[in-house]
Amino acid sequence: MGWSLGYDENWSRDVGYGVPATCDHPGCGASIDRGLSFVCGGAPFGGEHGCGLYFCGAHRHIAADRRDNAPLCTRCYWGKPNPYNPTPDVPEWIEHKATDPSWAEWRAEQEAAKP
Ligand SMILES: [Zn+2]
Ligand SMILES: [Zn+2]
Repeated sequence: MGWSLGYDENWSRDVGYGVPATCDHPGCGASIDRGLSFVCGGAPFGGEHGCGLYFCGAHRHIAADRRDNAPLCTRCYWGKPNPYNPTPDVPEWIEHKATDPSWAEWRAEQEAAKP
């Protein structure tokens, strides 16, 4: 599997550049995707230095050598202990999962898991 679509167990959400999203900086609202170009930490799931949330260019800051020059969100950059609250999935993505044939198997699993 490439990085177009995956699942982040830590944040319980779909990730990858195939997933349209909103910047996780509070109140930002910029349209991005959950690919490696936007992830805090610059590595899958945030790697060693990031929180693994997703931020637009205005809300990522390049860390120094000590942290491998990783692009980090404001909180991680300043070493704050608690990450931001993740933004909800965008309606476009929810709609895609509800209707696209590529998600048919997933929908069947969800249905089967219902009590
Ligand atoms: Zn972060
Ligand atoms: Zn932003």
